[in-house]
Amino acid sequence: MPLPSGITYFTPTLPLYVFDAPRPGPTAIVQAGIHGDEVAGVHALAELLERELRPTHGRLVVIPVMNPAAYRARERMAPGGLDLNRCFPGDRDAPEPERRLARRFMDLVLDEAPALVVTLHESKKRYDPAVVPSFGQTIVYGVDPRPAIVDRTIDAMNQTATDEERWAPQYYPVATSSTEVIVEATGCIGLCIETWMGFAERRRIDMQRQVVELLLADVGVRCGV
Ligand SMILES: [Zn+2]
Repeated sequence: MPLPSGITYFTPTLPLYVFDAPRPGPTAIVQAGIHGDEVAGVHALAELLERELRPTHGRLVVIPVMNPAAYRARERMAPGGLDLNRCFPGDRDAPEPERRLARRFMDLVLDEAPALVVTLHESKKRYDPAVVPSFGQTIVYGVDPRPAIVDRTIDAMNQTATDEERWAPQYYPVATSSTEVIVEATGCIGLCIETWMGFAERRRIDMQRQVVELLLADVGVRCGV
């Protein structure tokens, strides 16, 4: 069943913000903090919620902190835990909380049938096409051909980026990542946004926020704002 409007919870510290627009349209799901040391996306989503980001069409689901225990520890994984982004599609009967959470998120995506799923990440390694893997800063996709929204968003980001901030697309499929499993299961657009941790945190947050706003506008969840 699709989620009710308003705030619901996967766990007491894992809220999901569900906003329905007055007009029909697609659904977008944006999440961050699947890796707890990658804070820019978490804070970008918190700021967007504080500024009362709302869809104009369809539905917007915002999950600012997918892995609260990892985020509190400021570590990629919760202490003693698994890499949540390598646990998809998950297992509701698994002993590990990450596998159960991955399954809950998968079920949510299957129920919501989103047009777009975005996961916000950060990278310690600056993107260099000659160095694989290196991610900051890129929009990562896992299916060929590359969705056109990737190029449009990168072009828009690079209009205001400095030379050292330039964005690039990156094809990097990971078989058990949230994006790839979800794209395979639903046919939606699934993107991973990566900023480079070498930039000041304030700048990374602003860039993550800008990417999210561009993607939501492009997919038609926020139009004319
Ligand atoms: Zn990550």
